[in-house]
Amino acid sequence: MKRCSYCGYSNYDDATECRKCDASFVAKPEVVYKSFWVGPEKARSLRGKALTAVVLGLMIKVYWGGYGPWHVLDNPTLAHVRSFAEPLLIYGGAILYLVGWVLNWI
Ligand SMILES: [Zn+2]
Repeated sequence: MKRCSYCGYSNYDDATECRKCDASFVAKPEVVYKSFWVGPEKARSLRGKALTAVVLGLMIKVYWGGYGPWHVLDNPTLAHVRSFAEPLLIYGGAILYLVGWVLNWI
């Protein structure tokens, strides 16, 4: 016997709703909507771009920074671009990755 919590009517044990007031005995799944600032999807895409920036910065450091057995381009303009782009990509990308990681939760 299953007693209705709304009207008190006694229903059969296998009843899914009250015979008297039609109240459902089946618990509806509670849908939780969490509001994000940007949302996990955008945060993931931001982390992907940040990782790309870090990888690009590391590639500039390794292939253009004199770590290889090849000749380094030492044109002053190019060297200026390198000294500007390398830390921007590496540290900027690292910070952007952290931001994307935090945005996943807020
Ligand atoms: Zn009822």
